[in-house]
Amino acid sequence: MNEVRNKTVAFHTLGCKLNYSETSSLSRLLENEGFEKREFDETADVYVINTCSVTENADKECRYLVRKIQRQAPESLVVITGCYAQLKPAEIAAIPGVDLVLGAAEKFNLGAHLKELSKGDPTKICSCDIEEVNSFNPSWSLNDRTRTFLKVQDGCDYNCSFCTIPMARGRSRSGTIAQIIATVRELARRGDVKEIVLTGVNLGDFGKGGWNTGGGMGGLQPEDFFGLIKELDGIEGIDRYRISSIEPNLLTPEMIEWVAGSRRFMPHFHIPLQSGSNHVLRLMRRRYKRELYAERVRLIKSCMPHCAVGADVIVGHPGETADHFAETVEFLAGLDISYLHVFTYSERDGTKALEIRPIVPIAMRAARNKILRNLSYHKMQSFIHRHEGQTRKVLLEGHVTTSLMEGYTDNYIKVTTPYRKEWANRIIDWKL
Ligand code: SF4
Repeated sequence: MNEVRNKTVAFHTLGCKLNYSETSSLSRLLENEGFEKREFDETADVYVINTCSVTENADKECRYLVRKIQRQAPESLVVITGCYAQLKPAEIAAIPGVDLVLGAAEKFNLGAHLKELSKGDPTKICSCDIEEVNSFNPSWSLNDRTRTFLKVQDGCDYNCSFCTIPMARGRSRSGTIAQIIATVRELARRGDVKEIVLTGVNLGDFGKGGWNTGGGMGGLQPEDFFGLIKELDGIEGIDRYRISSIEPNLLTPEMIEWVAGSRRFMPHFHIPLQSGSNHVLRLMRRRYKRELYAERVRLIKSCMPHCAVGADVIVGHPGETADHFAETVEFLAGLDISYLHVFTYSERDGTKALEIRPIVPIAMRAARNKILRNLSYHKMQSFIHRHEGQTRKVLLEGHVTTSLMEGYTDNYIKVTTPYRKEWANRIIDWKL
């Protein structure tokens, strides 16, 4: 057993907000066990890389980071965890210099594993079948002491053709409303958290973790996302919440109408669309048609004309012909949304999309991406233009990296201004 007192640890995170919130929680866990935290480019006794399966060239990035550690601190322990570690443990273990590979179930037992590990031992892989992963570990990250990303749900039961996340993170599961409320109350007591961004893999599927007594006659009924946000809205001490992303089929009209009347949930939705062609949506195994998506956007804009609506779109999915892509462009052009996140399809082992033909040539995928990025730019400009002259509430960030500071309005318009200490981590009225 290794003594951990006075040992140092450094983390590096690849990928999404969920990974960042988990790295933050892992770091706090180790600090509670006696480790001291270091920056990744400093010398540390242990280096932990939290990987992502969506990142292009995840293996190359991992190799690069491990080589860097070996040059910097050849005697230090190197641990790789996260989605890529769950999907390809043997591949990662084969990277020279890696001491421990931790899959999804073992990630939060990092401290215990470190006590058993010595440099020079054969590389250890601790990973089980993803079907067996069913625990939920609440995690949160403090971004800039202004916004915190709070993980309330993990895993996904959908099986979209292009996605490896269910294989890397397992089945949908979540914390209970009571657990999450307790965490948020704790964050509120700190006094410096102004905004909480609720994150998850499939956030709208929240509820596979708890029951409530709303079933009448003392009966129990499953908790759900709507129940969670209604409870959070009542907590004093947190000024703002955002919903990081929600599937269109899980964003109900009742939820939209409720957000329109909420003081604390911001007028901002991010709703993955992926394609504006019903044929491609079917190939992707998405659970809605474009008509439902358009209906949700129409309702949002009729209740909250100032609301920001963002969409994820994938271009170049197998089977997406020029006509299907033209349908997507036309659909998006006619939709009252504010911005797009455009992704270029790329092949992933183990996914259904690999069986679909025809394959879209790489150059064509890039050309389609460019067209949608251009459209996104114009959508954002027009959204900003429509709000010119209005006064909106802006939360200005608390940390300083340059002489400028940034913040977002309630409806997600970015504001940049010269740094002023008295504005840091405050919500102020801002004329756009
Ligand atoms: S909803 Fe689809 S794209 Fe999103 S995590 Fe689940 S399988 Fe992946």
